[in-house]
Amino acid sequence: MSTKTTISVIKADIGSIAGHHRVHPDTILAASRVLAEAKRNGIIKSFYVTNAGDDLQLIMTHHRGVDDSEVHGVAWNAFKEATRVAKELGLYAAGQDLLSDAFSGNVRGMGPGVAEMEIVERPSEPIVVFMADKTEPGAFNLPLFRIFADPFNTAGLVIDPRLHNGFSFEILDVYEGKAVELNAPDEMYDILALIGTPGRYVIRRVYRRPDREIAAVVSIERLSLIAGRYVGKDDPVMIVRAQSGFPAVGEILEPFSFPHLVAGWMRGSHHGPLMPVGLRDSKVSRFDGPPRVIALGFQVKNGELIGPADLFDDPAFDETRRVAQMIADYLRRHGPFMPHRLGPEEMEYTTLPDVMKRLAQRFVQAEMGYKPIVRRSEELSGGHD
Ligand SMILES: [Mg+2]
Repeated sequence: MSTKTTISVIKADIGSIAGHHRVHPDTILAASRVLAEAKRNGIIKSFYVTNAGDDLQLIMTHHRGVDDSEVHGVAWNAFKEATRVAKELGLYAAGQDLLSDAFSGNVRGMGPGVAEMEIVERPSEPIVVFMADKTEPGAFNLPLFRIFADPFNTAGLVIDPRLHNGFSFEILDVYEGKAVELNAPDEMYDILALIGTPGRYVIRRVYRRPDREIAAVVSIERLSLIAGRYVGKDDPVMIVRAQSGFPAVGEILEPFSFPHLVAGWMRGSHHGPLMPVGLRDSKVSRFDGPPRVIALGFQVKNGELIGPADLFDDPAFDETRRVAQMIADYLRRHGPFMPHRLGPEEMEYTTLPDVMKRLAQRFVQAEMGYKPIVRRSEELSGGHD
């Protein structure tokens, strides 16, 4: 036990109603029962269960640190219990994200997405928990850069001496399992050279310079890379600390006023705008999308979650949502063409290669009048073929 507080957000798609639309309330209830029991037993201090589209979201606080086997065990049992209900109800893709049957102390690498941070609570500790559906962890690259490195987004970087020294970004190469830490503002251009390839380079954590207080953490689980095939999209979660030495809540939400293009949407195979929505709209319909994100604000006090505040449930984001619809319309008219459909590196994990294989034998040598010189950068293409 520690005097520090840990915030654990663990999510999984364990089945949903009407295809990939949304989590069924009975599965939320089943998971809540398991968490309530864990609270009574003193394993966790408080919890909030919700859904981002078809993903069941467990938000928990406790004093056991990150990667704690008891807390992860609670989450695993909650997902198992919810899966049992999902199977009873015949929900679609019941148990989809639980890639293994044998729990061995940690849910990481078993399918669920995990974002955890251990902190010394400030007297007032506001946090924002972001949960996205129909996209991937790299979807948070752009907003994270803008929150912690872009003075045109975050006024505090310029005018608040506590933010003025900048932030460090831990960036993960999810194909190689390697990480690099780069500092903003001095290494901004290097950061962008990597994170502009969000399928491969994912911002995992952000620290405040120079005291290395943790500012943000993202789930980096990519299901297709764990399973080696397309299972479901790797719908990510993220925890960000706000105010008093960190960006204000408004500065943290601001990048989401631009519905930037992310990978995911239908069959995890298309680009679409990331649309910020309130909880009541945390469900997908059009072409199983468009991809969307919810943001819940909490205060953390003495290890307890106070809240939530449904931060995107605000007319201030209506115009963003309208622009997202226009982008969705425009992209949909491309049908099966790139860049609406994802590029070949990402399609590698879908069922498209099976179709391509069937065509391979139909190809014959053709005279083009030149011999093509093909270049490939391992660092950009993922290097997996
Ligand atoms: Mg999902």
